[in-house]
Formats: sequence, C-alpha cells, structure tokens
Amino acid sequence: MAQRVARAIAERAVLLVEAGTGTGKSLAYLAPAVLAGETVLVSTATKTLQEQLYNQTVPLLSRALGRPVRAALLKGRTNYLCLQRLGEAQRSPGLLPEDREWLRRLAGWSETTATGDRAELHDLPDEAPIWGRVTARADECLGQSCPAAEGCFVLAARRQAQRADVVIVNHALFFADLALRDAGVRLLPEADVAILDEAHKVEDVASQHFGASVSDARVRDLARLGRGALKAGGAREERADEVVDALLNRSETFFGLMGRVPDRALSSDSLPAGAEEAARALGAALRVLGSEAHGLTGKVPPSSDEEDPVVRGMLEATSARADLMRAELEGMLAFRDATEVVWVERGRRAVFLRSAPVEVGSILAEKLFGVVEAVVLTSATLTTGGTFAHIKRRLGVDWDCEELVVPSPFDYARQTLLYLPRDVPPPQHDAFAPVAAAQVERLVRLAGGGAFVLFTSFRQLDDVYRELQGRLPFPVLRHGDRPRQVLLDAFRRDGNAVLFATSSFWEGVDVVGDALRLVVIMRLPFARPNEPLTEARMAAVKRAGGSDFMDYQVPLAIIALKQGFGRLIRHRDDRGIVAILDTRLVTRRYGEVFLRSLPPALRVYHLEALEHQWGLTRRARLGREAAGGVAPRPEPDAP
Ligand code: SF4
Repeated sequence: MAQRVARAIAERAVLLVEAGTGTGKSLAYLAPAVLAGETVLVSTATKTLQEQLYNQTVPLLSRALGRPVRAALLKGRTNYLCLQRLGEAQRSPGLLPEDREWLRRLAGWSETTATGDRAELHDLPDEAPIWGRVTARADECLGQSCPAAEGCFVLAARRQAQRADVVIVNHALFFADLALRDAGVRLLPEADVAILDEAHKVEDVASQHFGASVSDARVRDLARLGRGALKAGGAREERADEVVDALLNRSETFFGLMGRVPDRALSSDSLPAGAEEAARALGAALRVLGSEAHGLTGKVPPSSDEEDPVVRGMLEATSARADLMRAELEGMLAFRDATEVVWVERGRRAVFLRSAPVEVGSILAEKLFGVVEAVVLTSATLTTGGTFAHIKRRLGVDWDCEELVVPSPFDYARQTLLYLPRDVPPPQHDAFAPVAAAQVERLVRLAGGGAFVLFTSFRQLDDVYRELQGRLPFPVLRHGDRPRQVLLDAFRRDGNAVLFATSSFWEGVDVVGDALRLVVIMRLPFARPNEPLTEARMAAVKRAGGSDFMDYQVPLAIIALKQGFGRLIRHRDDRGIVAILDTRLVTRRYGEVFLRSLPPALRVYHLEALEHQWGLTRRARLGREAAGGVAPRPEPDAP
C-alpha cells in the first residue's frame, strides 16, 4: 500500500484503497506522505482518527525515520477556544451559576493550554451550550481587528499548518476549504496532494458543505450580535431594538410555519400557506439589519481606544452574516436548482431549513479531482460485493483509476463467530423488540457481558432497553446518557459492560482486547428511504436507469454493516461473536451480497451451536493463555 500511495503521489493519480483492519493503513499512507517532500493534506472523518494520527502515528514514523516529521493538526475553528468571545461571555450579565463556573474553569485553562483545543477538556459534555459562547464561527470572528489576535489559538494552529509538510485535518474542514475557494477564502495551506482516510464518509460530508443551512437558532445568534453591535456602533437604543426585534419576530413566524411541514423534500408547491410571504419578510428584516450595521461601520471613528476595532468588527460581522443568511434563504426557497434538494429538519433546539446537492460527483470532479493533483481515498470499507463500483459511482470517479484491496491480516474464521438466527421476526414486526431482547439477554449472558448492542434508531434502542431493564447482571450503558468518550472509557474500564448505542458507535470506535467480545447488530443499517436526501438520491439513481434498492440502498447498508462488524476484532488476539438479528440477511436474496462482503467469519445459525462453539473458543483461549498454544479452528454449523 505504501508503494502504491508513493506512486500515486509521484504520478499525480487518483488511488482507491480498501485496507482492512489491522493492515497498518495509517503508516502506509503517512510514510510516503512524509517522504514526498511537499505539502500533503491528510483528512479523516472523525476527530478520533485525526488525533490518533497526530499523537501516535506521526511520532512512531518520526522514530522509524530517525528524524523529526513536520506535521500539524488543524481542526475546524469551533474546536478552539476564542479568547475574545471568552472575554465577552465573562462580561455578559445574567449568567447561570453553572455557566459562571465553566467560564471560570475555561479562563484558567486558557492560560495553561498550548492549543486551546476543546479535545483537552475531557469532562466538557459534547452538547454543552457554554462551548458555543466561547468559540467563534467564521462569521463571529473579528479577524484582523480582534484585540485578542496575538494569543488566538485558531491563528496559531493555522500558522503551524503553514509550516508543516503533513497537515492533518478532518473532512469537515477539508470540504469547507474546497467550498470556500471560489469566494477567495482559504482555510488550509496550498497542497497538490490529499489523502482522505475514512473515505466512505466523503459523499455525506461533501453534500453538507456544498449545501446551505439556515435556522432560527442561527437567526437568534445573529440578533444577539446585531443588537450589541448596533448599540455599541452608535445607533439609537430604540432603533437597534426595533430592527432586531423585527428580525426575531419574522424569524419566529417563518420557522414556526416551517416547523410544521412534513419531513420530506420541499418544493415551491409544498411550501405551507404564508411561508413565501414570511420568508420575504424575514429576508427584508435581514436586509435592514445588514444595511444598518454596514451604515454604522463607516462612522466608527478611528481612535486609539481599543474598543473601536471590536465595535467595527462586530458591525462588519453583523452585516456580512445578515447578507449571507439572506442569500442562503432566498437561494434555497427559489428552488431554481433541480440538482439540489431542500428540506426542513427539526432539532432539539432549532428548526433548520437545509439544502444539499443530490449528487456530489460533478462537484467533486471540479473542486477536488480538478484542483488537487493526487488524491488517495482509503478506508477499511470501500468495496461492496468485492468491487469499488459503488463508491466510484457516488463520488463521480468515472475513469479507470488505480485501485487496491489490502485484506486484513486477522484470521476471522478463527477469531469470529457470526451468529445468524432464523427464528427472530422481521425487524418491522411488532414482536421483534421482545424476541430480539430475549436474544440479546441470552447472548450477553453467554459472552459474560463485554457487549456492544448496536441499533439504527434511538426509538428501537429504547424499546429493547426497556424490555431488558433489570434483566442483565452486568453494568449497562446507554448512548445519550453521558458523553460518548465517557461511555467508552467506562466500557473499557469495566471489562464486562453492555453498551446500547446507535449510529455514531458503529464506526470510529476502537476497543481492543477482551472488554469487547460480542457485537449485536439489531437490524441492517438501511438509510431511511423517506429521508429527503436519501429519497432524492434514490430517485436520481432510478432516473439514470439503475435500481434504487440494489444500486444505492444495499451498497450503502453493506458499508455501514461492515463498519459495525469491524468493531469486534481490533487485534490478532481478539476473539468474539458478531450476532446479526435481522433475518433478512438469511431470508432475502440480497442477504447473500451482504454476507459476501463481510469478513470470512464462521457462520453459526443456532443458539445451541453458538454456545458450544463459544465454549470451545473460551476454553481454547484459557488453554492458550496457559500454554501459549494456538486455538483450534471452530467447526461449521448447518444453516
Ligand atoms: S481572531 Fe477570531 S477566533 Fe481569534 S480570538 Fe479573535 S475573534 Fe476569537
């Protein structure tokens, strides 16, 4: 793999590599990247992998090469503490006691941290609202006029990236950079070589960044900034309040209407009555705020007072944000672009109007493959049914590019039992939850805990969790109850815990060793066909003459299933069971395509046979640990 990556860099080619778990994929691309003698961008989907590359793989490589490696870790700006916003938050009135306590801790941390990266704050919950107040999105940053620019963590990270040979970023930042290039904005250093790991996520991340999103929460944020900016910039109090209150009222009307539309793709015909008028009113209110702020910008007199650049920065940010939001809102509701899908999403704290391109292929052809000379796309899960055809179709790679499959060195037939029961009702059946819960109970008891139980929705997770409450004699952890990292640490520490989790635990989670010995997959991870973007993509596949199910849904679900399956074996000494309770795998014809795509584990169809095999595996393990021997190969079970 290292040689092929080196060749792709030298020959300015596009290379697709599927490298199974345990192949040493990261080293195989980082080594040629470092030796290339030019700036290389390495991008990952998850921050976990990004940090692992920077904190573990780069030092390892540096030791192996016997010389320092000039690498930099660069994340999206909202990962860094903003000193200016921290100061503003500390000065703001009406703080809740817990926010005041957090601000005190953050201020202390800001004086000791070298990076300002929130990843250092292990006990800050993922969703903690306080973080949003002390970090600056692009439109909140005062840029050149910021009085805190000298100690700014974002600018420091960018300076380090400019000096590095290998810049490790995540896909969100990578695609934000590509999307902003046309507007003359650059977030990343110039590079002719990009290596995208976890490349199975590229389509989704690219869709997000080449689309748009406006929400009532974003309007409220702007209103907060705008009110302060107008008043500090010299507007009459009443005028500032009038402009901002009008904006908030109109936002409430518009998003109130949009919050009631069905969860489907929108068109001009499906907009609720009054929505167009409400959108026009909201656009007009944004225009007024933007022009008031713009008008005041020129009137802030230059002086030595350090407040002045801050006020000017706030006014400029207000004006720019209002203009951008209006353009996005108007653009989405014009429904001019037939290649784009527009929909409404209801979050816990906001209603979003979003848009995304249905196909990213032509965009990537222009903005990625047409700009970056050498691109390596790699992942442990890129092929489906043994070919790269699906990922190539989705990413618009319609030429014969270089391809490579590096199989995992693990002996799955010896290390993994794949349990495929036939006596569980189909997952859409009412009886599924109680029967599946009973299976989970027996499986967890068999393995003695140490289990991930993976769901495709919180609703199903809650159903099964309720069924099993008090029935499992092991510590039970539930996704959503505590931050993800805290749950994982508790799981690893305990050794016998059972974790109930949904999609974000299907991938990017590494539990090496005996703490994880059972992975239960409740149902095949098909994308919801009525989810607007999925629906639009399926329709596009059909229009192009393909099958929306076999050519889109099935390959996508195979990649997700391979990821879930891949949680179990992370080391050559790991042993365990993967149980897939969705019987469609054995009753439907397409099930065979899924099974062909999975690692060659020993299939077991009956619980009794599984109990027998698992007993052998555990005894062999104990014997092997005692005598240093090799585990016997398990015996097959008849379907
Ligand atoms: S330059 Fe921007 S991100 Fe940096 S401290 Fe100032 S406002 Fe915050």
